[in-house]
Amino acid sequence: MNRQEYDQNRSWIEIDLKALQYNVNSLMKLLDYKEQFMAVVKADAYGHGAVRISQALNQWGIKAFAVATLAEAIELRHHEIKGDILILGYTDPCQAYLLKDYQLIQTIIDDQYAKNLNQQKVDVNVHVAIDTGMHRIGYNSNDLQGIKDIYALKYLHVKGIFSHLCVCDSQKKEDIDYTYQQISTFNKMIQALKDENYPIGKIHIQSSYGLMNYSHIKYDYARIGIALYGVHSSLQEKQQMTISLKPVLSLKSKIIMIKRVPPDATIGYGRTYKTFGETIIAIVPIGYADGLPRNLSNCGQVLVNGKKVNIVGRICMDQMMIDVSDIQNIKVNDLVTIIGSCENESITAEELANQSGTITNEILSRLGHRLPKIYKGAES
Ligand SMILES: *Cc1c(COP(=O)(O)O)cnc(C)c1O
Repeated sequence: MNRQEYDQNRSWIEIDLKALQYNVNSLMKLLDYKEQFMAVVKADAYGHGAVRISQALNQWGIKAFAVATLAEAIELRHHEIKGDILILGYTDPCQAYLLKDYQLIQTIIDDQYAKNLNQQKVDVNVHVAIDTGMHRIGYNSNDLQGIKDIYALKYLHVKGIFSHLCVCDSQKKEDIDYTYQQISTFNKMIQALKDENYPIGKIHIQSSYGLMNYSHIKYDYARIGIALYGVHSSLQEKQQMTISLKPVLSLKSKIIMIKRVPPDATIGYGRTYKTFGETIIAIVPIGYADGLPRNLSNCGQVLVNGKKVNIVGRICMDQMMIDVSDIQNIKVNDLVTIIGSCENESITAEELANQSGTITNEILSRLGHRLPKIYKGAES
């Protein structure tokens, strides 16, 4: 038993693999016969568990994965994940032998990095990152010579070239213009290399929103993260989306203690909440160390018996208090839903992210630390 299993009955994440499959099918419809699904499973598959998610995807025929770090890639190989695994981020060149041993693909972030990696004298398969306007990693998009120089490096084998769009989730005219400018810059660079017969390999630029909002552009891969998990980055984007997705993750806990508190009593650290009348408080064993944002203190809600109730007082590291005065027949062990649905009510990851002033990507990827995951709808 690992330590997360011991905590199974405290608070937990539920992963619905049927919903995952539904999302894969929905997203597949946006790809043409040639364009392949590259599943982005970095940050433990956005908190969903990279190994189990990738195993399911492998079974359904997905053969390309992207992660952020070497350790994430090796974890997948240790669990027999087949196909291409692209590391989107930096790997120390001295670890080149691991890239080779585990048959991983490394992103080349600039010319200095390419030289350093080549100096290890280990054959490595690479994809070259091009900066078309995000100004994060990647070769400057007018540095054609820099990219050509990679082909002269003996130990680096170019298997693909990619870029990343930075406002493809937006529907503002200026953002759409910017996105088309990025796409056109990328295409020009690719064409210039093709004209001189440089072997390019796989070409890719779309992420989830790149695919959903620009599905008419076709490349070899679409790198899909957040949409795979059935959520939109924020509430605003959800309203514009036409494709149907189902949330894969639910976050649950249970009531471990109930107490009656008199009027004018304060709840929790800092005494930030004061009861109005007599109040029934329930204690829930989940806190900010589990990934629940502390800024939901005194404003967030959870579901108990199909009803929304308020989080009262400051969220603690490992526990929080909720006001259950309006819930009939409340008892210890009653289920608490923090993300997900219960009877006819639901709290979505988008709502929770919106309320705490961030995006779902951040909320979900931070849940992993202490919460066990329970997988449902698995076929094997
Ligand atoms: C994280 C990441 C993605 C996935 O983005 P989503 O918006 O979650 O689909 C794709 N490409 C790169 C380079 C990334 O860093």
